[in-house]
Amino acid sequence: MTTSEKLIATEQRLGANNYKPLDVVLTRGEGVYVWDTDGNRYLDCLSAYSAVNQGHCHPKILAAMIEQAGRLTLTSRAFRNDQLAYLYEELAALTGSHKILPMNSGAEAVETAIKAVRKWGYEVKGVPEGQAEIIVCADNFHGRTLSIISFSTDPDARNGFGPYTPGFRIIPFGDAEAFAAAINDNTVAALIEPIQGEAGVIIPPAGYFTRIRELCTANNVTLILDEIQTGLGRTGKLLAEEHEGIEADVTLIGKALSGGFYPVSAVLSNSEVLGVLKPGQHGSTFGGNPLACAVARTAMKVLTEEGMIENAAAMGDYFLEGLRSMRSNIVRDVRGRGLMMAVELEPEAGGARQYCHALKERGLLAKDTHDHTIRLAPPLIISREQVDWAVSQIEKTIG
Ligand SMILES: *Cc1c(COP(=O)(O)O)cnc(C)c1O
Repeated sequence: MTTSEKLIATEQRLGANNYKPLDVVLTRGEGVYVWDTDGNRYLDCLSAYSAVNQGHCHPKILAAMIEQAGRLTLTSRAFRNDQLAYLYEELAALTGSHKILPMNSGAEAVETAIKAVRKWGYEVKGVPEGQAEIIVCADNFHGRTLSIISFSTDPDARNGFGPYTPGFRIIPFGDAEAFAAAINDNTVAALIEPIQGEAGVIIPPAGYFTRIRELCTANNVTLILDEIQTGLGRTGKLLAEEHEGIEADVTLIGKALSGGFYPVSAVLSNSEVLGVLKPGQHGSTFGGNPLACAVARTAMKVLTEEGMIENAAAMGDYFLEGLRSMRSNIVRDVRGRGLMMAVELEPEAGGARQYCHALKERGLLAKDTHDHTIRLAPPLIISREQVDWAVSQIEKTIG
């Protein structure tokens, strides 16, 4: 048995079976590339679901992590640390937010926002206790906790995990009139992804978010945008909301906030929503720890200073153009914004997973989603030559 076969067998024997990864065992990463235990190199076109936007093992983030890890890692929020204030200041300047709450995983940021808007609904909006409603969209993905899967429409994510958290109203994504009809006096918030990533990179119709923003403002509904995947440069802007010309009241970020080094997420708030949380009402042992703050500060610094967002815009256009000019009989649709892209295959093609497997054999790692779609999201530092190579491999695989 090779090393990778042994490791895979051990995982199968001892691990819970809640994932079905491609059978590639990675041991090293640098920039857009990762290497497996047999020494094969791959171009990473998933970027850990957009957590490594800055590229694997970015040397400056690594240096900041090592430096901070040797000095102070965790104090808990029982005491203060000398990194959190700087993270607040830098994130506020970068995003224009007024209040920030740091957490760890993306799901925790979503949970935090749900708690805060419910409380805001009771204390500020005057919704009767226990009646708060949050509007969400079908085919959403916001994480895996019980409350979040309570409003999932994916049977795999939801079935068998009840009883479910009430208080969510599900409407179709991209339909502003359905949204208008779902609002009532008890609606405290809308929780929406700017582009539905896990659903297969679904981009809403032009003008959708302008209308959502108007409806939220008119009805005193807090607009929460989950930018955990779309945010931090992925779509060619710092936040995907910029494509729509709107501003959310609450923005959720995570994933690339640490450049893939550490779980760091944050709730960014433009309104008074986070102001309702008082001491003792919410927290996390690791949230806002100095190691996380030092890593996130540097991850944001390299994202902006090294031109990654501009590169994502330029390379995203170039990559999409390449994908659209491929000769293939099994491509139903190519879509994307920035470097958040998807190639949807015809149903007769027999599922996207086999093509992801074939791409792996050619040295390109990508992930199938929803059976027929290949999602493509390389690190934002990808070059033209690397895009050319990726498109040629994809064309050879599905052409
Ligand atoms: C990944 C993701 C989450 C959940 O983040 P975790 O860190 O996995 O908990 C939430 N929302 C969106 C849009 C995501 O892509």
